[in-house]
Amino acid sequence: MPVDLVDSFGRVVRDLRIAVTDRCNFRCTYCMPEEGLDWLPRDEVLSFEEIERIARILVDRYGINGIRLTGGEPTVRAHVTTLVAKLAALGVDLAMTTNGTTLRMLAQPLRDAGLRRVNVSLDTLHTERFSEMTRRDELTKVLDGIDAAIDAGFDPVKINAVIERGVNDGELLDLAVFGRQRGVEIRFIEFMPLDAQGEWGRQKVVSQDEIVDTIGSVFPLERVTARGAAPADRWRYLDGKGLIGVIPTVTKAFCGDCDRVRLTADGQFRTCLFAIDETDLRAALRRGDTDDEMAGLIERAVGAKWAGHQINQVNFLRPRRSMSQIGG
Ligand code: SAM
Ligand code: SF4
Repeated sequence: MPVDLVDSFGRVVRDLRIAVTDRCNFRCTYCMPEEGLDWLPRDEVLSFEEIERIARILVDRYGINGIRLTGGEPTVRAHVTTLVAKLAALGVDLAMTTNGTTLRMLAQPLRDAGLRRVNVSLDTLHTERFSEMTRRDELTKVLDGIDAAIDAGFDPVKINAVIERGVNDGELLDLAVFGRQRGVEIRFIEFMPLDAQGEWGRQKVVSQDEIVDTIGSVFPLERVTARGAAPADRWRYLDGKGLIGVIPTVTKAFCGDCDRVRLTADGQFRTCLFAIDETDLRAALRRGDTDDEMAGLIERAVGAKWAGHQINQVNFLRPRRSMSQIGG
């Protein structure tokens, strides 16, 4: 029988985010520089067998019941469907966050391999702005990828939209309309200080309150429920045309309910998106640690998890790694 993996603040870990790769075919301005980052050498990236072993320890011993594959762009990793099949066999709620460019080709194979849910990132509906924000002219491909995900039967398909002041904050209503028409839930994300270039500033953050007020003034909304451990607060359109979510990491930290841990592409175990410390599970795997020894490392790391990030305090330290390297 699994036992709960509990941190020193009493929070139980239930959810694992795995960065399948640090590489990406996009260069979103809020994530990485135009020239990309120094990608990890192949031999430093965990193999599918190594990822599966760590995931199995977390599922079998501690009852982790949700796994999300992310990156970098998870679908640029060769044979990612093989990894999906291995993790689906663990019996967890398996999800993926993707930029959507490969979904026309991969949505059905991913679904057949056992992926249950998909979030596609889409920050703008304007071709030129899309090219500026992602530094790639691939809006049509992403929109087609969203349709492919719907066609493949993913339900729900959710859209992640990072909102940045002066860039795409004028599109809140257009994105809301897109979600209402397509029957997809848009999850608006506050811009976080995890861009590799260090250009984040508080003045670039559009708050949850502003997002909800702007949309709610045209399409009346009611709060659904308290978010609990989920990162997004959710609202329902009063006319029954679906839901929106907002991830208010900056203006309304939700650390008190966080149930997530993370594994980077190079096998570093992190207990918070903003953590400064990591536990090297790749080294443990490759020196031949037993499952008991690995579990001991995991328990020690979770036991030392901090109360929460300190974005809003003067002593906030940016993590050494950026969003795409941690696995957003
Ligand atoms: N490449 C995939 C994608 O873009 O969906 C998965 C990895 S990406 C790092 C995961 C999510 O993090 C995306 O929804 C992306 O928009 C978001 N993200 C990246 N940088 C961010 C930042 N500085 N602040 C807030 N969200 C960010
Ligand atoms: Fe790539 Fe996703 Fe980062 Fe954009 S947000 S550069 S798609 S990892």
